[in-house]
Amino acid sequence: TTLARRARWLREMAAHVLAFPWPLQGHINPMLHLASALLDAGLRVTFLHTEHNLRRFTRVPPHHPRLRLASIPDGLPDHHPRSVGGLMELVESMRTAGSAAYRALLLRMMDSDDDDAVTCVITDGVMPFAVSVAEELGVPALAFRTESACGFLAYLSVPRLLELGEKPVPSDELVRGVPGMEGFLRRRDLPRVVPLPLPPGPGNGDPVPVLLTIADTAARCGESRALILNTAASMEGPALSRIAPHVRDVFAVGPLHARPAARHAAEHVSRSSDDMSLSAWLDGHEDRSVVYVNLGSLTIVSSEQLAEFLHGLVAAGYAFLAVFRQDMLHQMAAAAASASKASVALREAVEAVAGAGSERALVVEWALQRDAHHVLRHRAVGCFLTHGGWNSTLEAAVEGVPAVCWPFFADQQTNSRFVGAVWRTGLDMKDVCQRAVVERMVREAMESPEIRASAQSMSRQLRLDVAHGGSSSSELERLVGLITELSL
Ligand code: UDP
Repeated sequence: TTLARRARWLREMAAHVLAFPWPLQGHINPMLHLASALLDAGLRVTFLHTEHNLRRFTRVPPHHPRLRLASIPDGLPDHHPRSVGGLMELVESMRTAGSAAYRALLLRMMDSDDDDAVTCVITDGVMPFAVSVAEELGVPALAFRTESACGFLAYLSVPRLLELGEKPVPSDELVRGVPGMEGFLRRRDLPRVVPLPLPPGPGNGDPVPVLLTIADTAARCGESRALILNTAASMEGPALSRIAPHVRDVFAVGPLHARPAARHAAEHVSRSSDDMSLSAWLDGHEDRSVVYVNLGSLTIVSSEQLAEFLHGLVAAGYAFLAVFRQDMLHQMAAAAASASKASVALREAVEAVAGAGSERALVVEWALQRDAHHVLRHRAVGCFLTHGGWNSTLEAAVEGVPAVCWPFFADQQTNSRFVGAVWRTGLDMKDVCQRAVVERMVREAMESPEIRASAQSMSRQLRLDVAHGGSSSSELERLVGLITELSL
């Protein structure tokens, strides 16, 4: 209609969002999906990468054709790993050098004479400085947290948890400190701060100071104009309503990658030769006969854990497709220089257990888990053995694939409890990596009709949520309204 066209034209003239993700895989992906959603709604969006990521990052999903790119230095030397081992350095460097560069860029982008000036910032909520710098310069800022609502609520609850003496330890004792989760959340399901195992060092022993910093960062989302979460009310309604009083407004717009437009765009991604051979391998398997294993972009395991895990996986008797990153093994993460050796060693470990049969086991270093001709949507995949990162959890949920969770840190602990005990779309292997347990859980996830039925019903609901008129889609419209208003 003319009115709708006029409203869209006004938006396009007015709003220009600077999207500033925390520069790691699991944060960049959902921010890119949010940026695409805003572009589809007619807004202009500039995406702020770090120079390092813009130059080197090949693992980003395809960009929306109208997305503009900008970059700032993250302040670290080129060879820095910027992953598990060096995470604290990245945090510190973004807070200092990154923040100064961001401020300078924002000033330049505000000053541009044409109607291109940035009118609003959406920053990852793990960087409170990005909100305060923008607001100080007169640019309204919103915070986007890329974890689950249940994980975010657990972070917000840390001061109360500590008051009650409830620390994240591997115990079955129920916790009272997280509102609404009193009946099922155990101490072992609370977010843990440190990607284990880490070398001994300052701060790695006592989790309390780090926990308090994380809680403070979460609470500071309340300073932004609104909190955006990549979740759906149907999945996390109770947690969302407990978060609401802590922030000015909260928008549950997820799962963003499942929006019909995003799914359509993903079909047009070109496939690399690796993707092709991976799909060819999957094509050669029966429906729901393959276990897909992917522990995310940061997880580190010890060689003992890996061996135990692989024995269980092989004993379960299904074919498996495993994504093992070069830097996934503990000692190898430290020696990133010998990366190619590491990947050979990993492959050998798998082959030794699986009896070298490429029919039975395929090991790769990266797979398009979700986009395009992705693995999770392939008919041959019967269950997903995941670390329970929020993106992976959502991706499995959208495809209706049962999960076996082996969580390591952060909200993975809480997400996996929801998978196993609340949504019942999978099983939670938490704190146990024994071959017999792996074997039993994989079998159950592959074969249980109850788990499959729950997973599929959640998938149906999430598709309704992101379709026109669904709760997440309506929340997205409300968000576009707020951004437009803030931009006038
Ligand atoms: N991912 C992928 N292929 C891989 C590993 C990861 O496409 O081989 C993507 C995955 O689809 C997800 C993201 O990387 O979107 C990982 O995010 P998640 O929150 O699951 O875990 P993290 O890596 O942050 O621990």
